[in-house]
Amino acid sequence: MNKLPRCDFHIHTKYLKCANATMEVFDIVKVCESLGVTTLGITDHLNTLDKLDLHWKIKEDIERLNTSVCVFFGVELNFMGVDGKFAFSEEVKEKLGFQFAIGGIHGTYLDKYDLKKIVDIQHRHHLMTCRDPLVDVLVHPYWFGKGEFDGKGWPWFDSMRAVPEAYARELGQTARETGTAIEINGCANLENPAYNERFVEEYIAFMSIIAEEGACFSLGSDAHDINSLKAIKSSWKVADRLKIPADRIWMPKGSPMAGGGKQHS
Ligand SMILES: [Zn+2]
Ligand SMILES: [Zn+2]
Repeated sequence: MNKLPRCDFHIHTKYLKCANATMEVFDIVKVCESLGVTTLGITDHLNTLDKLDLHWKIKEDIERLNTSVCVFFGVELNFMGVDGKFAFSEEVKEKLGFQFAIGGIHGTYLDKYDLKKIVDIQHRHHLMTCRDPLVDVLVHPYWFGKGEFDGKGWPWFDSMRAVPEAYARELGQTARETGTAIEINGCANLENPAYNERFVEEYIAFMSIIAEEGACFSLGSDAHDINSLKAIKSSWKVADRLKIPADRIWMPKGSPMAGGGKQHS
């Protein structure tokens, strides 16, 4: 049954303040171990370059680990404005020694409600992310912050039927061509309390179209709290259900920064 690699390549820490104080690297790894995770990546936010130095602490924590789990050091990128850039470059990557980058869009960038525009902006940024050679994984496609919609008095994004099938196909094709993995995200998409069961089924159908187009997938919990790490199991389940072959489950290149030990050759 357990054919697919049990990985989690989307985990936040307390250091960037988005996750809470329970998200200490040492404790994260301990919990992941108990969940059966064999390989993980810490990927805290880098929204702006002034936050770059906070990532040193994460790296130091990883380097101090003594674990059988393979641990990689990654980063999550966000667009600096609509059609903006990521706060990332070859130099930034090298300076910190990030082993991989995941990235995506984290807002609608609109002041006025227009569902078609909302979807079009997401789609455009998804494709831009795939085409960025420094980004390995497109994070949580079509995740939205419920707070943004509520705050603007908009109807909630409660159906994936707003996304044309052609967009899903184009995303899958672009991801395949660029070698960018599409994320199956536990907390933001599959277990987000803002979405009902029907939405999640529609979301899985969207993922299955991307899978048909031959894309690779990355599995990530996007945990911001130690008790949310278990959401990775939902990502694993969806990957199993979509019958994604093991060689299309994304893994970072190179050796982990810590862990592996005997299990890693
Ligand atoms: Zn994110
Ligand atoms: Zn995240």
